[in-house]
Amino acid sequence: MMEIALIAHDKKKDDMIRFVTAYKNIFLPHKLYATGTTGKRIMEETNLPVHRFQSGPYGGDQEIGALIAKNKLDMVIFFRDPLTAQPHEPDVSALMRLCDVYSVPLATNMGTAEVLIRGLQKGDLAWRSITRGETKND
Ligand code: PGA
Repeated sequence: MMEIALIAHDKKKDDMIRFVTAYKNIFLPHKLYATGTTGKRIMEETNLPVHRFQSGPYGGDQEIGALIAKNKLDMVIFFRDPLTAQPHEPDVSALMRLCDVYSVPLATNMGTAEVLIRGLQKGDLAWRSITRGETKND
């Protein structure tokens, strides 16, 4: 079982719902986390269970970042809106930076997310179960 975080900026939330709906069976055995509003919509519209954090602008990205800092997340799907200024842009950058620190697979658009989810289905992310939980202080 993999631990997966899902985040979508407002103009990308419909895309996120379509994406999760399309791949619901692949997501089903995994543990899902999300920022507040994204998680609420996923739960309501796909019936998948989601552990929800604060809404993004109120610290949700940082809460997900804290899980990454403990190397507990195996994949992040973050549908960003590149055309709208976000009040929490520093949090967004920090989250992506931590994914790079821990080599956590990160998709910031649907094209990459498709590849990641198909890789997940094939077992390409099994290596994560070996490195998961190892932090830079170990
Ligand atoms: P939200 O947060 O899911 O609560 O809308 C996402 C974001 O804007 O980072």
